[in-house]
Amino acid sequence: MCLFCDIVEGKIPSTKVYENDEVLCFNDISPAAPVHVLVVPKKHFDNIRDIANGEDGARYLLAVSKAIDEVARIKGLEGGFRVVNNCGEDGGQTVNHVHFHVVGGLKLNEHIL
Ligand code: 5GP
Ligand code: ZN
Repeated sequence: MCLFCDIVEGKIPSTKVYENDEVLCFNDISPAAPVHVLVVPKKHFDNIRDIANGEDGARYLLAVSKAIDEVARIKGLEGGFRVVNNCGEDGGQTVNHVHFHVVGGLKLNEHIL
């Protein structure tokens, strides 16, 4: 069982921000900033290292970057934003399906994630 696979499959509801064939982007349930969107590949990878070493990694990493660009446009983050990926237990990863936090909507001078 994987929480984000269930969200991708619509078994668990989420507030969608953007979607294409490779990724689903939805609001974080516990936002750390006015804008806090999770960019999630629809294919299950455990983490960023799994993307590096798994099948289709290049396709999904490119899709993630394009989705980040779309999220920034949709959310009006023209002044900038931060992208965070937590990898592994020591990196603070709590959901073991790779995801990229897009946080913004405020001046990010401090570490909030
Ligand atoms: P991580 O700590 O693994 O980098 O980030 C996991 C993120 O997933 C957290 O920011 C947490 O708030 C978010 N999250 C956990 N469960 C759910 C959920 O059921 N729905 C949504 N939208 N976000 C979730
Ligand atoms: Zn998954």
